[in-house]
Amino acid sequence: MSEFNTSDFMDTMSTQVWTNGRHLVRCVKVIAETKDVTTFTFGMSEPVLFFFKPGQFVTLELEIDGERVMRSYTISSSPSIPYSFSITVKRVEGGLVSKWLHDNLKSGDQIAVHGPVGKFNCMDFPSDKVLLLSGGVGITPVMSMARWWFDTDSEVDMVFAHSARTPNDIIYARELEYMSSRVDNFQMHLICERNEIGQAWGGYRGYMNIHMLSLIAPDFMEREVFCCGPEPYMAAVRNMLRDAGYDMDRYHEESFGETPVKDVERAEKHADMAEEQEALDQDQETVQVSFTDAGVQVQVPVGTNLNEAAAQAGVNISKACGLGICGACRVQVTSGECDMDHGGGITDEEIAEGYVLSCCATVKGDVEIDY
Ligand SMILES: Cc1cc2nc3c(=O)[nH]c(=O)nc-3n(C[C@H](O)[C@H](O)[C@H](O)COP(=O)(O)OP(=O)(O)OC[C@H]3O[C@@H](n4cnc5c(N)ncnc54)[C@H](O)[C@@H]3O)c2cc1C
Repeated sequence: MSEFNTSDFMDTMSTQVWTNGRHLVRCVKVIAETKDVTTFTFGMSEPVLFFFKPGQFVTLELEIDGERVMRSYTISSSPSIPYSFSITVKRVEGGLVSKWLHDNLKSGDQIAVHGPVGKFNCMDFPSDKVLLLSGGVGITPVMSMARWWFDTDSEVDMVFAHSARTPNDIIYARELEYMSSRVDNFQMHLICERNEIGQAWGGYRGYMNIHMLSLIAPDFMEREVFCCGPEPYMAAVRNMLRDAGYDMDRYHEESFGETPVKDVERAEKHADMAEEQEALDQDQETVQVSFTDAGVQVQVPVGTNLNEAAAQAGVNISKACGLGICGACRVQVTSGECDMDHGGGITDEEIAEGYVLSCCATVKGDVEIDY
């Protein structure tokens, strides 16, 4: 950030606003939140306003051990502080990117990010009363929403219930307390699975259940719900709300996705599977997928996922969220057609130009891919 001349920020002529795309950003701050969660803040050398919808995410493009890898991370900061943006990353044991970020990324380093994108945001589902539910690092999108409403002095009535393993694992604990001490329309409730010996804990204990929810937000049936956390947590919340007769059209959730299998392993796995399947597929209709740049073709059954077809052909199409939302795996189909069930990571214009998100596109007939 030292390259900034702060007077530039006030110069509306030279200040840019970022839009969905690929951006080179510089890490300007690293903050340890808990023992295994760190926040990284990014800015640009020239003044840029990082506007996005609270809840949206970016996809980081990194080179680790000579390989290009992509992973999505929610923007945990709020667009109300627009000259920088932050991500908050939990170190996953055995995880490639989260561990790399924790061990390597420091202030001054430049990386590429794609985005911002994402349907899970509070601007597309406006409401006067909200219930923000999060588990672990799933706090990031709902924190961005809460920060936005708090910073903009919004009248949105917020109930924020966050579940953590232990009191020391509560991310943003002090900021949450600060926010709830300042305004009446932010009620915070913390739930810990357990507390370690020597840790005082006066909050809720155990796992979120309907009795707890009825105490936390007796009027939860009237609230728009935004939920993010580990899959078992979100499944429990969904079941709890459904059983209570909650209108699930007003329930929104963000999944941090399935565990991605490393590309090489995926290719090996698919090579094995391809052999096993060969006999079974004798009678099944197959189609040819050609990757024109790479100059390779592969024969796969109709309905095969395009990203998997690429792996079988030994072609590595970068993939991040695996849910059709981040747009990292976009490729152009130059001949033939695919079916696609995406999650909003591609525009109608791109689709009209023949682009598909390979993680959620399946082949219907012979296709040629410009990759
Ligand atoms: C929309 C979206 C938003 C997200 N937002 C956030 C966020 O705000 N904060 C956050 O922390 N995360 C977020 N994530 C998750 C993030 O993208 C990564 O998935 C996460 O950081 C793990 O990536 P990794 O590279 O460290 O782990 P990976 O290398 O992808 O590994 C993940 C898991 O697989 C296991 N694993 C890896 N390789 C093997 C192997 N060979 N054998 C067995 N097990 C293996 C690891 O032990 C680990 O448990 C988000 C994801 C999405 C899709």
